[in-house]
Amino acid sequence: MVFTDFYAQRRNCVPSATAFQEGHGSFPAERLVQAIWQQQRLLRDRLRTLDGQPVRILHPGFKNHGAGPDFHGAMIQIGSEPLRNGDIEVDLRPSGWQSHGHDRNPNFKNVILHVIWEGERPSTTLPTLALQNLLDAPIAELSTWLGRDSLNALPEDMQGRCCAPLLDLSGDKLTELLHQAARIRWQSKAHQFQSRARQVGWEQTLWEGLFRALGYKQNIWPMQSLAESQPHWLKLPANSLDLQARLLGISGLLPAELSPKRTSADGYVRRVWDQWWREQDEFSDYILPRKLWCFHGLRPANHPQRRLALAAHWRTSKNFLSKLETWFTASLDKTELVDSLLQTLQIEQDEFWSWHWTLRSTRLAKPQPLLGSARVTDLAINVILPWFWIRAVEGKNEKLQRVAEERYFAWPSAEDNSLFRLARQRLLASATPKVLRGAAAQQGLLQIVRDFCDHSNAICENCQFPELVREWSANK
Ligand code: SF4
Repeated sequence: MVFTDFYAQRRNCVPSATAFQEGHGSFPAERLVQAIWQQQRLLRDRLRTLDGQPVRILHPGFKNHGAGPDFHGAMIQIGSEPLRNGDIEVDLRPSGWQSHGHDRNPNFKNVILHVIWEGERPSTTLPTLALQNLLDAPIAELSTWLGRDSLNALPEDMQGRCCAPLLDLSGDKLTELLHQAARIRWQSKAHQFQSRARQVGWEQTLWEGLFRALGYKQNIWPMQSLAESQPHWLKLPANSLDLQARLLGISGLLPAELSPKRTSADGYVRRVWDQWWREQDEFSDYILPRKLWCFHGLRPANHPQRRLALAAHWRTSKNFLSKLETWFTASLDKTELVDSLLQTLQIEQDEFWSWHWTLRSTRLAKPQPLLGSARVTDLAINVILPWFWIRAVEGKNEKLQRVAEERYFAWPSAEDNSLFRLARQRLLASATPKVLRGAAAQQGLLQIVRDFCDHSNAICENCQFPELVREWSANK
């Protein structure tokens, strides 16, 4: 599909440190290989070390912006060994381990996996994983989508050079430019779904997207792992409570014993355990360690145990997908978008989770929904609409492509967060969310940060975006 937008054309003219040119013996930039690792754009169920051991990635780790290995805090399993926690180093070739001096540097003593682009023999005793033949899409395609992705944080206290030309634009022009940038972000997500669907099918791809979105930013990876093992844990027919037990058991989030104080959760935990102890052996290969989950800074309503209960209701609903398709093809007014999707995804009531935030919290005075409108917007923008769109693209159904696009660009703004705030202050000198009209404009702003800010520095050195904005303004 060819897009001729001004933003897309100019973005492609900006040299990227990670752009990949295919050719004889070419290697991608190390930064692109790091981005592939960070985003796990891999055939994750086929990973093997150079000596043939299967590798399971439970968490790829967090990008290290200082000295030392490229990623900290990763969690992996090699073959049937116990889980390993530690660092990941990314190099293009096995020999990078010695030639970069990692073998002599004590900062690298916690590395648990050497990730390389290509090579046949490890040059360290560490397990070594070559990515070249394990990508989920061709490298040139990944270079287009990930080449500019963020590995850096945005500097905090600087207004950018693009601020003045952006503020000169009328509200409509600014929104139009942001929408062009948003289109890039939308396509990137959609093509990621397309690549995954080629491996596992459209339905499984949708479930993986939904689970990831239920993980928020803190728990994306454990939710992804759970969704990936779904073909194994969904083998038996299950009602919602049975599936909650299974998901809580496999996730490692089921408490090992009842609290010494009697709590209102005791009855629920007992029932869940009654179910789980019967089947835990069958699913033992897929059980995640509890420490994989992050609870820091989580609102109680977003606790993963509660999110898994919601996922169990969706997964055991016989008509979940057909309801979603009915919502997508219904004729809806802009003002009905959020509520109609919320109604489609909301579950009526859960005997336990409608009345509790977590397994430890006391019973609430009034039942609370398992899904709110903020999460519905994230699900629509990041998963449901791009998934429907790229499926329509593959099916050459232009009418449904238009429906997905119209909904995306009409969707009301997402809940404000620190990422949006920082980008608004830097690019638009504005602390007020109102300056961005709708969720697509917010997405467009984030895309500009990825495409330009992340390749410049705090003083906007060599950034071509201000010129792009001036040119855009003059040509309009
Ligand atoms: S780096 Fe470029 S896009 Fe980012 S704030 Fe500076 S001028 Fe704007």
